[in-house]
Order: sequence, then structure tokens, then C-alpha cells
Amino acid sequence: MTIEWEAGRLDSDLDGVSFDTLAVRAGQQRSPEGEHSEALFLTSSYVFRTAADAAARFAGDVPGNVYSRYTNPTVRTFEERMAALEGAEQAVATSSGMAAIMSVVMSLCSAGDHVLVSRSVFGSTISLFEKYFKRFGVEVDYVPLADLDGWAAAFKANTKLLFVESPSNPLAELVDITALAELAHAKGALLAVDNCFCTPALQQPLKLGADVVIHSATKYIDGQGRSMGGVVAGRAELMKEVVGFLRTAGPTLSPFNAWLFLKGLETLRIRMQAHCQSALQLAQWLEQQPGIEKVHYAGLTSHPQHELAKRQQSAFGAVVSFEVKGGKEAAWRVIDATRVISITTNLGDTKTTIAHPATTSHGRLTPAERANAGISDSLIRVAVGLEDVADLQADLARGLAAI
Ligand SMILES: *Cc1c(COP(=O)(O)O)cnc(C)c1O
Repeated sequence: MTIEWEAGRLDSDLDGVSFDTLAVRAGQQRSPEGEHSEALFLTSSYVFRTAADAAARFAGDVPGNVYSRYTNPTVRTFEERMAALEGAEQAVATSSGMAAIMSVVMSLCSAGDHVLVSRSVFGSTISLFEKYFKRFGVEVDYVPLADLDGWAAAFKANTKLLFVESPSNPLAELVDITALAELAHAKGALLAVDNCFCTPALQQPLKLGADVVIHSATKYIDGQGRSMGGVVAGRAELMKEVVGFLRTAGPTLSPFNAWLFLKGLETLRIRMQAHCQSALQLAQWLEQQPGIEKVHYAGLTSHPQHELAKRQQSAFGAVVSFEVKGGKEAAWRVIDATRVISITTNLGDTKTTIAHPATTSHGRLTPAERANAGISDSLIRVAVGLEDVADLQADLARGLAAI
């Protein structure tokens, strides 16, 4: 028996609504069932009415789903919501943050192109450029993130892409995205920004002039440490290339993870607000403690780019790094003495995490690459979660007392 549904309103009209409303509602297309929460479409393929219908959809003459490596309604909802939040013409989801970075380079660069990468980026990002892209004839050079003169001097005739994290992991360095975008465009290059640490709730790089935004959705977008995913967002003309690569090569997002991320986005801004508030409080407290050499956090007035951070971001993020006196041994003692905080390298979770970058996330780099990225043996990274900040402070105090 077929149920006849009444025609009528099922989806919201989102013209002119603000970020918080888009975070909850953008991209949703309700099925005739009228489900209130976003539906999870666990299907790898789709059926067609007739052979002619199948042919038309495969040819792209008629819009519609063909196969979930290409499109899936739950993934599409997530992509449309991310595009709305980043102010992008289009966004596409990937199976991880690294898959997002790979897809950008594979789709926008060719052998013989030159890429400029900021010196202090995620450990696997450096390995991806060094071990793999170089093997396929992409030239790579590294530039200190904040050094605009250094960027200007590093361009070559074949420079195609600039790749930065701002703020960077784990030292919270920044670059003036608007100034760097102007520099890139004047030289005919594109600027890609890994916006993982800020999320669109704190910073929207496309609005600052960047061409492509990249996310590890594994972090704050999921927000609860459950699943892997990534996003690439930008102009439709560039995204066409990225989408083409993804559909062919296949590191696309699972619908289940897309569904989790949709639920994560609904609370993104209020979570980021709470993460950032606790992080600032802990950074200010850490700066006053004996045994600490230096605290890296853009919310501190002692941070060399504090003014830029205030201008470019609506808050300072939730990753606080600090160097202790006494090198690796002291750093490990601090980490081992904590009792609440988890010893793990993930970030963007409700649960606060603590890690020693030199021997974990950046452990595979050569000592020279590590030194270049500014990762010392005495550096500890804390990704502040949503526990009571007084409990986190007491835990870190226990750690510092162990030095
Ligand atoms: C985690 C992370 C990545 C990689 O993302 P995955 O989802 O782990 O593949 C890339 N960039 C930054 C800044 C990250 O923190």
C-alpha cells in the first residue's frame, strides 16, 4: 500500500538567518515521513525507476543519487551545513582530515608545481608532503607561519598553493590570513587554510580572503571524540576539482559519521565558547606557576600575536601548550601525575587531553623537522575540554608538583 502524503511545508526557510540557526538547521531536506531530526541513510546504492532513468542519472542529465561514493543524502546535509557555516559556495566531506588535505593537493596541484607550507603544521601533514607529494614531483618549501616577508620571498614562478594552519598546532602561532591571501593572489597562487583549531564558530577564513578551507571534523565538529572525518570548502569552481578527485579515488565520508557531525554542529558554538573560556583561565593560571618556562596561547597578552588573534578570531581556541623547566623528563612527569585528564593526542573532545608532542604527534619527524616546527622536548599540549575548570587546574597543579 502506498501512503499519499499531503504537499506542504516540511523544511525551514533559512534566508537571512544567523550562524546559530544555520548550525542547527542548514542543509536538512526532510523526507515525506516528516522526521524532525536528520535521517540517516545507510545505503551504498540507489534504485532507479527505469533503465532510462538510470542512464540519465549516470550521465548527470537528471540530478539524483547514483552511489554513496558520489552522493548520500545524510552526507549532503552535512556538506551543505558546513558550506553555510563557512560562507562557502560548496563543501565536500572526506573520510578524515588527512583525506581532506590529500584531496586538495591531488586535485589542485600537478607534478612540477610548487607548494608553500607553514613550518609548524600537524605532524601527518608534514609527512604527507615530505614522503608522498614530493615523490609525485610536487615541490615543497616551508615558511615560518607568521613571517609575511618570508612568505613573499619564498614564491617561485611555479608556486601554485599556500597551505597554512592558523592558529597552528601545537604552538598557537597565527598568520594574518587577509594579508597572506593578498600576497598569494598577487602571485597567482591559491591559499588553503586548515581551520581545525578554530572551526567556523571562531574564524571563517574564506571571508578573510582564503580560497579553500580544510577541516578535520574528527576534532571540534564531532566534539565528543567518536568519529573520523574531514571537510573541504570553497568556491564552486575549485570544489568541482576536489569533488571529482574524491568521487574517483574514494576517501569520502561515511553517512553514519556525517550524521554524528550534524549532531555535533548543533552545539558547536556553545561548546567552543565553553572550551575557550576554560582554556583562557588555565593559560593565565599556568603562566603564573613556577616550573613553567613559557605558555603558548593567543589569548594571553604576552602572546606576540595577541592583537591579530583578537582581530581575526572571535575567541582564542582551546589548545594550550606550555614548556616546563627540565626537558623531556620533567614533561613526562607532569603528564604522568595527572589523574583526571586523559593522556592521548586527540583534541576537540569534551574530555581534556594531555600529550607530549615531541614523542607522539611529531615523533615521526626527524629531529631537524621537529626543531623546524618549534617542538621542543619540554613542550606539553593540553586540549581543554568541558570538565569543571577548577578540577582541571587541580589536576595540572598535581602534575607540576611532580617536577
Ligand atoms: C587532526 C588534525 C588533522 C588531521 O585530521 P584527521 O581527522 O586526524 O585525519 C589535520 N590538521 C589538524 C590541525 C589536526 O589537528
